[in-house]
Parts: sequence; structure tokens; C-alpha cells
Amino acid sequence: MRGVLSVVNVSSVSAAAPEPRSRPLDDTVPFIMQWRRTPSWSPPHTARIDAIISANVGIAARLDRALRERLLEHTAALLQSKRWEPVAGIELTDEMLVTIAANAAIPILSFDTWPYRQVRSIIVRPSASLSSGTRAGPVAGTYTDEVIGTIGLASPHSGPIVISWDAALADSRRPALGSNVVIHEFAHKIDMSDGYADGVPPLRGAALDRWQRVLRDEFHRTEGRDSDHVLRPYAWESPAEFFAVATEAFFCIPVRLAAAKPHLYDALAELYRQDPARDSVPARP
Ligand SMILES: [Zn+2]
Repeated sequence: MRGVLSVVNVSSVSAAAPEPRSRPLDDTVPFIMQWRRTPSWSPPHTARIDAIISANVGIAARLDRALRERLLEHTAALLQSKRWEPVAGIELTDEMLVTIAANAAIPILSFDTWPYRQVRSIIVRPSASLSSGTRAGPVAGTYTDEVIGTIGLASPHSGPIVISWDAALADSRRPALGSNVVIHEFAHKIDMSDGYADGVPPLRGAALDRWQRVLRDEFHRTEGRDSDHVLRPYAWESPAEFFAVATEAFFCIPVRLAAAKPHLYDALAELYRQDPARDSVPARP
């Protein structure tokens, strides 16, 4: 099991574009040392939350009335129940917190349980964190020292989620591009809610069998990974990344995912109990 999962430089490219600098980071990233307490802050009122969602959260445009209501409730719950931590000089605003919380809430709108119990803190950075140093290259036996930009991290157990605000905002406003760093990192937390970052979410019985079959068919195939038109190549870093990237596509570009990979779409629809491809109002580009 990988300790800390990352997504790198995905916000500015389309879902099908190559991502040459995808690298997972390891457990030793010392970001905990950068924490500082959030100043006293009062959550915004419902009307303010609603206005920010309308302005910034593209996926919300296609939610029906019931899901939109639940989005407001879940967003408010995340704002109040989690510790929000600014780092690297950023000053947290209502817009940042509501935008991130609303995107985090989208996957769980139809859940009966609260799968983010293990998420205690969300750390917000202004932009990607850059790291360098010699590491294994993209081909076995090679090395690279290129600078890596990391826009999100999800730590196991009760560890924090780290989000870069600039990437989160860009993704949130343009779901048609197929990437969403907030949904990606929170999908890792859903995957890890059974204790393992293995790409197998907490399903049981026939639903679990179906997901494992889809994972086997889609993840373990070798043909077409680099030319996949729906999932970007980062999905094939590991089963955990496949689940997170597929979840992004499910919510951001559901019609394309359903057309290209109907079995994967159906398995995710069963997990999330949502059917975004058949929603009557398309997400705005
Ligand atoms: Zn990831």
C-alpha cells in the first residue's frame, strides 16, 4: 500500500493529454511541519454558500433539486466539522473553503453513511508544491531530476488532505476538462476508508465482485493506455490512482465515460448511487 498519494500537474491539461511528470510522493513529505491554526472563522450562511457554488462549481449545474439541497447541507457540514489549514502564505476565504468543500461533497451526495470521518484536516496551498531530487525515471533503470509540482495529497488513516487552490478552482469551474483534484483526493479517502489504498472501495457482495472485474479488465489491460481518450495515463500508476482518476471522470465527464467504458461507468454509478450521464441538465463547460 502506498502511504501518500498524489496527483501532479493535471489541472491545466485535458483528460486525454499525456502527463509526463506524474510521480507519487512518499510518506516522508514533511508538510505537517508547515501547519498553523486557522484563525477564528464563522461559516457563511446558506445563501452565501449557494452563491459561491453557483459561481464556481460547474458540476452543481446539472444536479437536480434534491441533490442540490444535499450539496448545500454536506458543504456546510464539511465547513464546520473539518479543520481547514492555510499554508504557504495563503489567506483562506469563504470562496476557497466553500468551493473545495462542495467538490468534496459531490461524490457522497447519495451515501447513507459519512465516509469522510477519517478526514480531520484539509490543508490549502495557494499553488502546487514543487520538489526536486534524483528519482526513478519513467522507464526502468533510468533516473530523472526534473522538478515535480504536486497539486494534491491524501494521507492514509486520519491524515490530512492537501489541496492547491489554483488547481481546485480551475478544475471546479471547468468540469468538461475531466480533471478535479478535490474529487480525486477525496476519492482516495473513500478508497482508504476500509484501511487500504488499493483501488477497491468499500463494497460488498455482488457489487464488490463487479468492481473487481471492472478493475481487472480496465486497469490491467495494456493496450491503449497512452491513447485513452477518457482517462488520463496517470490512472495506470496504480489501482488506487485508477479509482481516483475514474471517479473524476465519472463526475466531470460522465457522458463520455459512459459511452467509452460502460462497465466502468455502471460500477461507479452503483458505488456512488448517482447517474450523472443521464441527468437532464448537462454540466457547463
Ligand atoms: Zn492520486
